[in-house]
Amino acid sequence: MRLILKNLKLIASLSYLHMRSKTLFEEAKRHIPGGVNSPVRAFEPNPFFVKEAKGARIYDVDGKEYIDYVMGYGPLLFGHANERIINRVKEAVERGTLYGAPTEEEVELARRIKKFYPSIEMVRLVNSGTEATMHAIRLARGFTGRRKIIKFEGCFHGSHDSVLVKAGSGALTFGIPSSSGVLEDTARHTLVSRYNDISLTEEIARRNGDDLAAIIVEPVMANSGLIPPDIEFLRGLRSIADELGCVLIFDEVVTGFRLSPGGAQEYYGVKADLTTLGKVLGGGFPIAAFGGREEIMRNISPSGRIYQAGTFSGNPVSVAAALAVTEMINEGIYSYLRDYGKKLVSAIRDIIDDRNLKATVNHVESMFQIFFTDRVRTYEEALSSDLKKFRAYFMKMLEKGIFIPPSQFETCFISTAHSDEEMKITIEALDEALKIV
Ligand SMILES: *Cc1c(COP(=O)(O)O)cnc(C)c1O
Repeated sequence: MRLILKNLKLIASLSYLHMRSKTLFEEAKRHIPGGVNSPVRAFEPNPFFVKEAKGARIYDVDGKEYIDYVMGYGPLLFGHANERIINRVKEAVERGTLYGAPTEEEVELARRIKKFYPSIEMVRLVNSGTEATMHAIRLARGFTGRRKIIKFEGCFHGSHDSVLVKAGSGALTFGIPSSSGVLEDTARHTLVSRYNDISLTEEIARRNGDDLAAIIVEPVMANSGLIPPDIEFLRGLRSIADELGCVLIFDEVVTGFRLSPGGAQEYYGVKADLTTLGKVLGGGFPIAAFGGREEIMRNISPSGRIYQAGTFSGNPVSVAAALAVTEMINEGIYSYLRDYGKKLVSAIRDIIDDRNLKATVNHVESMFQIFFTDRVRTYEEALSSDLKKFRAYFMKMLEKGIFIPPSQFETCFISTAHSDEEMKITIEALDEALKIV
């Protein structure tokens, strides 16, 4: 009897990937390309389909519970279904969801964003990080009257044409489309440099100085696993932009409100000309922003001649969520997140050291990622990670009830809803999962 029970339990624990979620995935693939509405969500044999989530936990349609370190790919700094955010949103929804006319709350949100980000003198709200970087780049081009931008290999700025560009072969300067459908003519104006390599960047920038509109960078690279910046690199970008008169864009869609109230700019002490915000700002609701020096921002329509618009921009529901988020941003949460991150990462390092694993963990505040290689300080080193081992680690973690991003080239996120209990369960799972790699 005990044996039967034990076997039943085992079958139950293995079959979660093969039941309702599996059926739904097959069905989804008939209607939605790849079965998902954003590519990173798909993995083999099938992703779990979500029923609900609360705090640091997420529950699938087959009744399995997971501790979540994906956290919506970054936005959920306060966990799932945070009460203060939800209450604020409920209140807002009752008063209408879209007006097509301005509200006092938008003005208040703009005022708060400016207070957290001293480099932002004016700000405009949009709906996604993709929109924010797209408009920031157009604005930089319109403002400078120049065409080219520099981006860095491995940095992600959303899914519009100018930034879906990777390095060409040979000298890393000539961008080629990283997606079919992006014109070579467009990619030609995106120059690609190497992250944390200031001398190469300086060389590319100088060679294109007269026609260089902007340098766009993730101040912490969070879309190739996690790669921290050399502070001298960020400072160097600031000096290049000053010298050549181009616009320095910090894409803080991930780092904004996550590293500190003032994002990476406050954390590293380097100011941008234009900043893009998203993810954490809406606490799980779609809202993003771009802002910066007034001299640049005032060129946007209707006050200027650079066009930008959006039906849902500044909608009262997302703005209400962002007001709740900006109220909860204070010093207390950052020390909590930092402590959790430090403890968890040091436990991972102990496991790696004890077992002499060929693995390394990168970590900045409430973000971390494990790579199965010796060290990762550059994009090339991230690419050298053993993806087979990562896949085995991911699957084992999932089986143990820990949800991390299925891709090596993403980042794990900690929220204020992660507590000692989650920490304990996570470390036990890691201990098991790292046995098999
Ligand atoms: C997620 C992300 C974006 C795109 O934001 P979306 O809201 O998904 O359009 C842009 N930049 C960075 C750094 C991101 O991580």
